[in-house]
Amino acid sequence: MKLLRFKKEGVEKTGVIINGGMVEIRHSILEAAQSPLDDLKRKDFHSLEEIKILPPVQPSKVVCVGLNYRDHAEELNMDLPDEPVLFIKPSTTIIGHRDSIIYPYHSQQVDYEAELAVVIGREARFVDLEDALDFVAGYTALNDVTARDLQQKDGQWTRAKSFDTFCPLGPWIETDTDPSNQKISMKVNGAVKQNSNTKNMIFPVEELISFISHIMTLKAGDVIATGTPPGVGPMHVGDVAEVNIEGIGILQNKIISHK
Ligand code: MG
Repeated sequence: MKLLRFKKEGVEKTGVIINGGMVEIRHSILEAAQSPLDDLKRKDFHSLEEIKILPPVQPSKVVCVGLNYRDHAEELNMDLPDEPVLFIKPSTTIIGHRDSIIYPYHSQQVDYEAELAVVIGREARFVDLEDALDFVAGYTALNDVTARDLQQKDGQWTRAKSFDTFCPLGPWIETDTDPSNQKISMKVNGAVKQNSNTKNMIFPVEELISFISHIMTLKAGDVIATGTPPGVGPMHVGDVAEVNIEGIGILQNKIISHK
């Protein structure tokens, strides 16, 4: 089931994708994620062209994982980490499908990073590995936009990862995807730049949820960005970046100048 948030005539609403169109529903997106499709109370039908898609959730935090693909570690000639390396993107980085990424004047190298995002459905703290996937509302696509020059200059990652618009998220939540075996790719202006599969993750989704929940409370709606495969590289003003995750969909964003 594909669930999304959208805006029409200035009002924020929730919908479910059915037969290529979208039916408005009366539930919040996290309520709907816990319900069978037949139980959702339906309202109007809209075509996707007539609505503005919003980011699927408004998390209190986006918890991101550093190096988490075996093929990326090989590309960088790095040893596999024995624990996930974590950092956080603030909620103010989040934009939705077809919103614009603003290229900050502080940076000369802004990179894309295609990632599978996990949306947490209910509060998670000290979660056991075998229970971890029960806390998932669904999955979506994420671009962990990074000012690479500032990441290297600063030695820690907060500034490089935290500019407004640096976390495109969407277009919707897929509630029924197996996160352990999906193709993931990044295209810039139609050219494939990253092409891998989530089966190459060093720490799978259930391990990440359990590990993070033993450090901090994951709230309903929080997002985990699960790391990026090989092939990261720069984007330029005017480029169109597309994260495509099998079984979920395509998250598309254009890069615009700060001016
Ligand atoms: Mg990343």
